[in-house]
Amino acid sequence: MSLSAVHGTLSSLKSCQADIGTGMDIVTDVAMDLAETQNEAVHPGIAEMEAMILECAKLDREINYFVDVVQQVTAEFPQVTTQQPESMFSLSAKVKEQFTERIARLSDDELQNHQKVVAFKETMKNSASQAIRESEENVEELDEDLVVTQSQVNFTCPLTQVEMKNPVKNKKCNHHYDEGAILGLIKARHNQKKKCRCPVVGCGNSDVKQSDLIPDQMLRRKIQSQKRQNNST
Ligand SMILES: [Zn+2]
Repeated sequence: MSLSAVHGTLSSLKSCQADIGTGMDIVTDVAMDLAETQNEAVHPGIAEMEAMILECAKLDREINYFVDVVQQVTAEFPQVTTQQPESMFSLSAKVKEQFTERIARLSDDELQNHQKVVAFKETMKNSASQAIRESEENVEELDEDLVVTQSQVNFTCPLTQVEMKNPVKNKKCNHHYDEGAILGLIKARHNQKKKCRCPVVGCGNSDVKQSDLIPDQMLRRKIQSQKRQNNST
């Protein structure tokens, strides 16, 4: 084993992590299905989904720490090659030791701050209140037209001016953007050593941070289901 093999493994771990992210989106989708088919706010299956989301978040976090530790340790041993099996051994022992130490310090409570866990909870809270609203008032057709026009406006990203694919909500000012577009803008502004102002006209939020952005699964779902409807007609 050489360092290039280590880097290969790291990149496959990264793609595995992307799959975990997709998995978490799917679980959130299923939970939304459950929430919609039942009028009760709390469906027993949803607690199970939440447990799954937390497991995924834990795995995701462990991969992050592992990759981090490996990168740090390999940076300390730049000259290691396959010809030096002893150094490879000490390298892997060091990774193991540092990783175990870091994982031991972590608490499960912190998982609640994982971006996708936050998104899941937000989504479930919203679908619960939506279910209650819908059962309380019979939505008339007239209102439904109104709802459609309103939401169509919200489907557009203020940055790209096209329909969002991965909408994220800014928890500070409640504005939505397409994830890729806003992350690109934040990066570009930070490269210029400037803060990123919220691109929504009239918004006073002058410092949009990546940590303020929460994926809006509910909106993503609405956009997708409208797309399906448009395709079928
Ligand atoms: Zn804003």
